Amino acid sequence: MIKLKLAGGAEVWVDFDLDKSRCKGCRKRIYWATTCNAKKMPIIQNDDGQWQSHFYDCRKAAMFRREYKPNTDGVGTDTKWLKKI
Ligand SMILES: [Zn+2]
Repeated sequence: MIKLKLAGGAEVWVDFDLDKSRCKGCRKRIYWATTCNAKKMPIIQNDDGQWQSHFYDCRKAAMFRREYKPNTDGVGTDTKWLKKI
């Protein structure tokens, strides 16, 4: 686990091996960071090399916020999500 500072100033923890994922909305490489209040948040590295929340730059973000839950329990979550796209 390492600590990162996001573009907005928030500090999060991330393990680049374990938290690696791909956005179900836009297929970009994302990482599931853990915030200081133990919430999971998708982050992505922007063109300047800074880390930021993927909620800001994902073109599916609106959908994301309402419906997307981190896939923590395997196939079921993913299947439900994919049907809605
Ligand atoms: Zn996305």
